[in-house]
Amino acid sequence: MKLPFAEPYKIKSVETVQKSTLKQRTQWIKEAKYNLFNLKSSSVFIDLLTDSGTGAMSNNQWAAIMQGDESYAGSSSFFELKDRVKKIFGFEYFLPTHQGRAAENVLFSAMIKEGDIVPGNAHFDTTKGHIEFRKATAVDCTIDEASDTSSLHPFKGNIDLKKLEKVLKEYGKEKIPVIIITATCNTAGGQPVSLENITAVHKLAWDYEIPVIIDAARFAENAYFIKQREEKYKDFSIPEIVKKMFFNSDGMTMSAKKDGIVNIGGFIGLRNEELYRKATTFNIMFEGFINYGGMAGRDMAALAVGLNEVLDEQYLESRIRQVDYLGQKLISYGIPVQQPIGGHAVFVDATEFYKHIDINEFRAQILAIELYLESGVRGVEIGALLADRDPISRKNRFPKVEMLRLAIPRRVYTYNHMDYVAAALKNVFDRRHDIKNGYQIIQEAPIMRHFTLELRKI
Ligand SMILES: *Cc1c(COP(=O)(O)O)cnc(C)c1O
Repeated sequence: MKLPFAEPYKIKSVETVQKSTLKQRTQWIKEAKYNLFNLKSSSVFIDLLTDSGTGAMSNNQWAAIMQGDESYAGSSSFFELKDRVKKIFGFEYFLPTHQGRAAENVLFSAMIKEGDIVPGNAHFDTTKGHIEFRKATAVDCTIDEASDTSSLHPFKGNIDLKKLEKVLKEYGKEKIPVIIITATCNTAGGQPVSLENITAVHKLAWDYEIPVIIDAARFAENAYFIKQREEKYKDFSIPEIVKKMFFNSDGMTMSAKKDGIVNIGGFIGLRNEELYRKATTFNIMFEGFINYGGMAGRDMAALAVGLNEVLDEQYLESRIRQVDYLGQKLISYGIPVQQPIGGHAVFVDATEFYKHIDINEFRAQILAIELYLESGVRGVEIGALLADRDPISRKNRFPKVEMLRLAIPRRVYTYNHMDYVAAALKNVFDRRHDIKNGYQIIQEAPIMRHFTLELRKI
């Protein structure tokens, strides 16, 4: 008998999570004004709100925490991390930041100005935010298959080279300061970019003399997909594939809260000294001195260890398998989910779920609330509430498909937890026609409203 796959770790420390009753949850969600961001974590049984900063550190990372060097300047934890980044990604120049968006803020301050065009593959929302904040424009050049829910394309995060070349031709290096490749791309829960595509983008960028930066939050998960799905690289190790992904890039921004497997942290890696010097000034202004950039010494120490652990193929297999397991289980229950299943999350199609309910009543939010009421599981709405209002007309924007995202934290939950989530969603699915009405906004902020808005039951 072939032995099944099993996690390459065991559990040393556990944290109790609270179960609750339907009556309690009904009260709590009402007090939270039907916004799951307003729930206390103690009111949540299984928390799939995000995979960002929510992973479990290893014993070696905790040991590194105690070894952290808290010196303001010249911290040995800084040099360890800098060396690790050079070894893994090949970047000579390194700046720590307190998280991913801070890396964007610092680097973009040095690169992007008003009126610029920044092509890429479905830029992450903070990335887009930092581009638009500078009155520049992010142009999404992702392949069309990315938004085709019936397509099983293995690399739905790929950049469409024709779309990209059109933008490069039209605006040139005068208007385009940088091309950003997001790996994995956040569409449908972490769709990978192929190495062939990354290489082709580098080639095009070279022709037009435009730098390429990789938004690398989930670089290791992307590398694992390359090994699995790109025939040419099946015999390469994960570190070898990562080297190839970054070989021709001019730099990277990193949210270490994802594939750094730490609770807070980020950094910038660069090849060009002049750009590094420019970014350094902004790092000192916004983040802190260049030897810590918003991170404690112990955080840098834990991150250096995490960056090594995330490259372990056995770890990556356990990670991607678990996300896939939940996705396949939902599919087997007939629940509509986005396919193929991505690296860090499963997206449930709320539009299909509640097509009998008026679109103005926020279908994906209904689904998020119903799942919470059913089970204490917290997911997040990726629908009209997140899409916000059109900045000009102030009308609600409705994405073609509204979704509930179930993001899986790294090394935190077991397969039993996944079974629990799937069963809860199945129950919500079976009684979907009992739900007749949704929600109405009673309070919202002018921008990024989803975090703080308040709703009323219709
Ligand atoms: C999370 C993330 C960011 C932003 O990083 P934070 O650490 O949340 O500030 C940027 N890009 C991608 C692809 C991300 O996943």
